[in-house]
Amino acid sequence: MIGLTRALVECESPSGDRAAVDRFVELMADTMAPLAAVRRPSGGVYGRHLVCDVRLPRQRKSGRDKPAHILVLGHSDTVWPAGTLRTMPFRSAEGRLWGPGVLDMKGGIVLFVSAVRALRELEIPASTRVRLQLNSDEEVGSPSSRALTESNARQCAAVLVLEPGTGLAGKLKTARKGVGEYRIVVHGKASHAGVDFKAGASATLELARQIERIYTFTDLASGITVNPGVISGGTRSNVVAAEARAEIDVRVVHAADARVLDKKFRALRPYDPRCSIEVSGGVNRPPMPRSKGAVRLFQMAQRLARELDVELEESLSGGGSDGNFTAALGVPTLDGLGAVGEGAHAANESILVDRMADRAALLAKILAGV
Ligand SMILES: [Zn+2]
Repeated sequence: MIGLTRALVECESPSGDRAAVDRFVELMADTMAPLAAVRRPSGGVYGRHLVCDVRLPRQRKSGRDKPAHILVLGHSDTVWPAGTLRTMPFRSAEGRLWGPGVLDMKGGIVLFVSAVRALRELEIPASTRVRLQLNSDEEVGSPSSRALTESNARQCAAVLVLEPGTGLAGKLKTARKGVGEYRIVVHGKASHAGVDFKAGASATLELARQIERIYTFTDLASGITVNPGVISGGTRSNVVAAEARAEIDVRVVHAADARVLDKKFRALRPYDPRCSIEVSGGVNRPPMPRSKGAVRLFQMAQRLARELDVELEESLSGGGSDGNFTAALGVPTLDGLGAVGEGAHAANESILVDRMADRAALLAKILAGV
């Protein structure tokens, strides 16, 4: 498992780098070829997606006309640019494996491969068909893979997501916030800051005022956060700025909150009537509510984990995943089944070696038992 983790981490796969992601997808296709029927649907401007219909021992038919399916979701892309390995090489130290993407989510992919290998080698029958889908564009919001995820999920009784567990306890995720991004462009009027100051309408000043207003959209008690994380504007200090921009991350627990938030963004009006405001964007991953189906899946996982002497807990995650799409379709979705560690998207990204075996065993038990 450590060897495969190393191979996957050392094959860098930043979302926007199609050639790099395709190299990773080829590596995964080779890894899965002895275990599954493999397809590589186009990812458009992103790398290819990977769909594997896993061959498991002695599948029994569980339905009269159509056997039940489980969709296992992962992603092959990472947030780390090519060349990150030079400063953040794969290493094994302090009981952990370290490196770009090791937690989010190459370690999770390794767990799945190991679970499938174990079921095959131990000849443990599975009552369901298992399809693995690895998307190439998850870290940029899944624009190209979303339709594929949804059409595969519609045929399934359950979706399991290989995203990391929450915290060093590796809690599973039965609910996730919805995620969105808004972009605001303020148009003002340029002028010479010395000669013709009054003729200018400052877009940077207008944006600063708008940001104060936008900050009031946050409601921590309701789990609503609004973060103008990036701003830019103006050209030179001696020019009254003609344009300014902001990129704003939003998170909501309930779909209704997303609609209220959207109205507030669309209702933004300039303080200075000479300025204008353009608003675009919205919530692109609907919230994954804590549904009955997700809780049932979690309780089953908890029971199976106890057989491994592991006490599992559940959590609400502020981050989104492709599980948000499948849960929104009403398909029971259990997330956070991937590796246990910390530092996703951060320099200390790492996974706990001594949790790899029990997490892989848990996945195998779920695949055999759903
Ligand atoms: Zn991820």
